[in-house]
Amino acid sequence: MANVKKKILMIICDGMGDRPVPELDGKTPLQAANTPNLDKLATIGKNGMMSTLGHGVIPGSDTAHLALLGYDPHKTYSGRGPFEAGGIGLDLLAGDIAFRVNFSTVDENMTVIDRRAGRITEGTDKLADALDGMTIEDVQIIIKAGVEHRAALVLRGSGLSPNVGDTDPHELNTKVLEAKPLDADAKAEKTATILNEFTKKSYEILDVHEVNVKRKADSQQPANIVLCRGAGAMPKIQLFSEKFGLKGAAIVGIPLVKGLCRIIGLDTIEVEGATGSANTNLNGKVEASLTALEDHDFVFLHFKGADALAHDFDAQGKVRFLEDVDKALAPIIDGLDEKLIVAFTADHSSPIVTGEHSADPVPLVIAGGGLRIDNVTKFDEISASQGSLGNLTGSDLLPMLLGLGGWRKMYGA
Ligand code: ZN
Ligand code: ZN
Repeated sequence: MANVKKKILMIICDGMGDRPVPELDGKTPLQAANTPNLDKLATIGKNGMMSTLGHGVIPGSDTAHLALLGYDPHKTYSGRGPFEAGGIGLDLLAGDIAFRVNFSTVDENMTVIDRRAGRITEGTDKLADALDGMTIEDVQIIIKAGVEHRAALVLRGSGLSPNVGDTDPHELNTKVLEAKPLDADAKAEKTATILNEFTKKSYEILDVHEVNVKRKADSQQPANIVLCRGAGAMPKIQLFSEKFGLKGAAIVGIPLVKGLCRIIGLDTIEVEGATGSANTNLNGKVEASLTALEDHDFVFLHFKGADALAHDFDAQGKVRFLEDVDKALAPIIDGLDEKLIVAFTADHSSPIVTGEHSADPVPLVIAGGGLRIDNVTKFDEISASQGSLGNLTGSDLLPMLLGLGGWRKMYGA
């Protein structure tokens, strides 16, 4: 029989992995949660553990997702700026230097009064427009507003470097930082100079902008400066379709991961009510992924909630969220057949007890596609460790799925 290629659905539950939680009688949130659908997936699939960036490495969400999507983070990553910028819809070119930025409030001495400008919700697009398109020396300034006080800044020009420090002091009642070059290269020096000039201009232009004149009159904090952090250079990156030969789509709420998906050329599908937090539209995202599978070979589905709840030390919330994910995934798991391979896993662990990402491996299940199964019947960290997949790294996952799905050529004759 000819080799029939199978479609692939990769589902990432961000920060799902955990450790024993005292509040949950020593169980992990996955062990404590009632997850009949995930348990079914484990039963009809093969299971194992995965360290996304290799053993002992504590993954960031961005670097972990690069590995999961088949890219080497050591070659493609210099900071989260480009992914955040891509996530709010900026189109970047290789070599662009991108930053995450806030519209913030400073006084006339450049002391930071409010990093979120009174949680401004309206008018930031006008503020961004007032700065967008200016040039400093030979460098073009591109800025686009995101949600609330957030925005992305791109410096486009020759001789720039991502090795510059932040202008955001990350603290209140502190002066705006002068961006410093982080190495001795003239490029870092030039980039720091441009960034400092931009920061000064942002204050001059925004402090008198009509949006802020009105805010001051209404006794609201003016959004009168742009504070930058997280510089990164846009990598030269091969499109997913060219690299692997599959047409892909992504359903993702949070800008960081959405931007990464856009940059590698996955079709990012918007879902109403997809917030990138625990109160997201889970059913809508699942439905959208099933629809996307009709005309894509590879679909990437991402849920953020578990990670956010772990950062908030919310054990019960994380258990409830995992149960909600379990319910939402029923249509995928019930409909699983030979034509589709599903992988369900996490980008890293986020233990409740620490409230931070950790290097603990995450559970992984691969099911469907008429593939072999193992004896595991529950989906959690302890059960999965008994499975046939053993201990993988994140960079194993996509090649493995492509091989199982019939997307790779024979090596040899
Ligand atoms: Zn993450
Ligand atoms: Zn996190």
